[in-house]
Amino acid sequence: MAQNSPPAARPRRVTRLQVVRTEQLTPHMVRVVAGGPGFADFADNEFTDSYVKLLFLHPEARYPEPLDIAEVRATMPREHWPITRTYTVRYVDTAAGEIALDFVIHGDEGVAAPWAAAAEPGDDIRFFGPGGAYSPSPDADWHLLAGDEAALPAIATALEAMPAGVPVRVVVEVGDESEEQPLVTKANVDVTWLHRDGRPAGAPDHLVEAIKDVPWRPGRAHVFVHGEAGLVKGLRRYFLQDRGVPRELLSLSGYWRAGLVEDDFQAWKKSERERGSDAVL
Ligand SMILES: Cc1cc2nc3c(=O)[nH]c(=O)nc-3n(C[C@H](O)[C@H](O)[C@H](O)COP(=O)(O)OP(=O)(O)OC[C@H]3O[C@@H](n4cnc5c(N)ncnc54)[C@H](O)[C@@H]3O)c2cc1C
Repeated sequence: MAQNSPPAARPRRVTRLQVVRTEQLTPHMVRVVAGGPGFADFADNEFTDSYVKLLFLHPEARYPEPLDIAEVRATMPREHWPITRTYTVRYVDTAAGEIALDFVIHGDEGVAAPWAAAAEPGDDIRFFGPGGAYSPSPDADWHLLAGDEAALPAIATALEAMPAGVPVRVVVEVGDESEEQPLVTKANVDVTWLHRDGRPAGAPDHLVEAIKDVPWRPGRAHVFVHGEAGLVKGLRRYFLQDRGVPRELLSLSGYWRAGLVEDDFQAWKKSERERGSDAVL
């Protein structure tokens, strides 16, 4: 049954592809399509929410080829270990031997977003994965999909996999109207786009309120809410206690945290989990 299965074991082998083309989807979202001989190493999984751990190499370091992370960690100084960033696989085109990743261009800060904004055909892209845990449950009576633009690739992919006619409520927060994207689905979908219109990203109170305002339908809901970490804090109790959503039908996950680079965000999530905090799920 495709619900929130335990995360798939992530192969530790590094896949190496080359950028084939980039597409400017909206003013702040760039699609990078990658392929090449390394596609033969890409083992797709069964989840709609499938993601890879991109590896960004230090420009001045010399790495073993093929890239072997265990060897890198054993033999190279820590500052030369690749930086990892997590991205949803937006689609896999097996016939063309290509995968697509959609990057939020959130400013000049960071590693992955500036890389994607400047990516050119022929550039190398390396990653672990894919991993994954969520696909829309065929047993649900209706679905709720919500998040900010970092979760939009995962929401769009899930919508494409929904069966005809199933009721789906979608709530997505983006910067403004120009960041809305067409969503393709056979489902019976009702979409709300929230606009920050100048408010900073990473203050998800409006999104939390809009999600709580969604009229609750009878029957089994399958819930997928991903985005800035504040969403988890604001919604965990609401879904589990107020709405009685069983854990196996709740996919609630922080994708990033305002003010933290991903490495520090992942370390924070780990320490919160270890102390049993409800800020993460
Ligand atoms: C399973 C999973 C799937 C994900 N899928 C996607 C995806 O498909 N597309 C996507 O764009 N992101 C996705 N993300 C989120 C992405 O991994 C983070 O946004 C990551 O921090 C971006 O790395 P960076 O190097 O650009 O910025 P970092 O170096 O990590 O951060 C630099 C600064 O930018 C801020 N920042 C980071 N992300 C954002 C953002 N989205 N908006 C505003 N400010 C931000 C940070 O708080 C920090 O202050 C996913 C995360 C997870 C866990």
